[in-house]
Amino acid sequence: MKSLGKFGDFGGVFVPETLMPALEELEKTFLKLKNDKKFNYEFNELLRKYAGRPTPLTFCQNLSKKFGCKIYLKREDLLHTGAHKINNAIGQALLAKSIGKTRLIAETGAGQHGVAVATAAAKLGLKCEIYMGAIDIRRQKLNVHRMKLLGAKVNPVTTGGKTLKDAINDALRDWTANVENTHYLLGSVLGPHPYPTMIAYFQSIIGKETKKQLLEAERKLPDVIVACVGGGSNAIGIFKEFIPSNRVKLVGVEAGGLGIASGKHAARFSDKKTGRLGIIHGTKTLVLQDKYGQILNTHSISAGLDYSAVGPEHAFLRRAKRSEYTYATDKECIQAFQLLSREEGIIPALESAHAVAYIIKNTSKLKNKLVVINLSGRGDKDMDTAVKALKLK
Ligand SMILES: *Cc1c(COP(=O)(O)O)cnc(C)c1O
Repeated sequence: MKSLGKFGDFGGVFVPETLMPALEELEKTFLKLKNDKKFNYEFNELLRKYAGRPTPLTFCQNLSKKFGCKIYLKREDLLHTGAHKINNAIGQALLAKSIGKTRLIAETGAGQHGVAVATAAAKLGLKCEIYMGAIDIRRQKLNVHRMKLLGAKVNPVTTGGKTLKDAINDALRDWTANVENTHYLLGSVLGPHPYPTMIAYFQSIIGKETKKQLLEAERKLPDVIVACVGGGSNAIGIFKEFIPSNRVKLVGVEAGGLGIASGKHAARFSDKKTGRLGIIHGTKTLVLQDKYGQILNTHSISAGLDYSAVGPEHAFLRRAKRSEYTYATDKECIQAFQLLSREEGIIPALESAHAVAYIIKNTSKLKNKLVVINLSGRGDKDMDTAVKALKLK
């Protein structure tokens, strides 16, 4: 490999020998196509004419007045399939097709990434198989139907805990056996190099647009950018363009679940006791683990933030003190979900509502500041969960 894909102490390539040729080919292809005019033209055309870019930057008049600061939302919720995930799915699908792969495979937890991949596969004429935990299949029927309608095969995973972690293991096994015609389309800035770098590249369009739109609207850069952090792809996507601008504060919000002390959360940074350096799915990063190094189960009201590890670049940015991380609990998330719906007429994904909660929790710090929240997705998928949590009739 040209690069080891290290972010300081984090990242890298920790995989069995059998996967190395596939990762080497992927790195070579990515480095070539990243600077290829035709590839970037096709990628941007698909983003514009199929996915719905550029997404608007919406000023929140009512919320701004309420909190005494200027709040803008980057509207990734308006994209095709309902979240930022389609940016990465289209980028990698196009890359796979460019090198003659005919089949995409992917893991999915709640099914959102599976739907994005199945969509990109349908659009680009590629075969598609999705690995999904048997328990998740039962919990997320609607997304399973969507994937099948889009022409994908959904493979139930019955090993281990029968959820996301096990689905990734099965997808990696499939890839090892079928690397000749198959691309593994990973969903967030996780996994071995080149995935974290490549996915950050495909998502960096979010920050590039935000900068241009905000300069047009306000003639200056934001004071604070806030994004929720599962694996960390929507956050890196909006952060990237602003990393060199030291004055812009970058804040990631993790899932605080039932509270840090409860142990039922996905707060890799905020829980100092269990969030420690470890290796998972090919990368070295912060992982929630017990004192024997066993990966801990996570909990969040939002499925998209419910993962035991965080992308290695986030671990690096935090150590370098360039970004900071906090959390919002399930309760605070639901409160923010309701607030944005009522004040601005926008129903956010529960994941994105974690970022909105930051504003409620830090009102005094944000007085007169210019704030951008990355609204990573829309809340249609979360209606059942929200109605139950709010005890609405
Ligand atoms: C999947 C998802 C996330 C979490 O993924 P990241 O890689 O951390 O961005 C956040 N928001 C929405 C709407 C999602 O669907």
